[in-house]
Amino acid sequence: MTRHDGGCLCGRVRFRVTAPPLDSGYCHCRMCQKNTGAPVVAWATFPIGEFSWTAGEPGTYFSSPRARRQFCTTCGSYMIFRSDDFPAEISINTASFDDPNAFPPRQHIFTESRVAWFHTADDLPNHTGYGPLSSATANR
Ligand SMILES: [Zn+2]
Ligand SMILES: [Zn+2]
Repeated sequence: MTRHDGGCLCGRVRFRVTAPPLDSGYCHCRMCQKNTGAPVVAWATFPIGEFSWTAGEPGTYFSSPRARRQFCTTCGSYMIFRSDDFPAEISINTASFDDPNAFPPRQHIFTESRVAWFHTADDLPNHTGYGPLSSATANR
């Protein structure tokens, strides 16, 4: 069975997924940038039924009326994005997994907010906003 574990910096909050990702990518949006202090967030999206918290209780911040960002209230690590627009899915920050190598990004989204000095050496598709995700089964 597919199983991948992850968690926050201090280890209090832990989670698990038991399915391969539906999609993955880099998000360059300003909210991800402000939430992490990093130029980009790599994410992978999973079916909500294949996700569980295995330790601790996350805090929840509503970054918009329909979007929740979940984090450890002890160390502050931001790990999870959920949107009411995609209720069957959960998006996990890839580097929060114990093995971030398991879910390489497949695309860039919200590239209109890409930081000018931040470059990645890849040929992945670049999308403004959610790109094709906004009409598909996928993510944020
Ligand atoms: Zn923590
Ligand atoms: Zn974002």
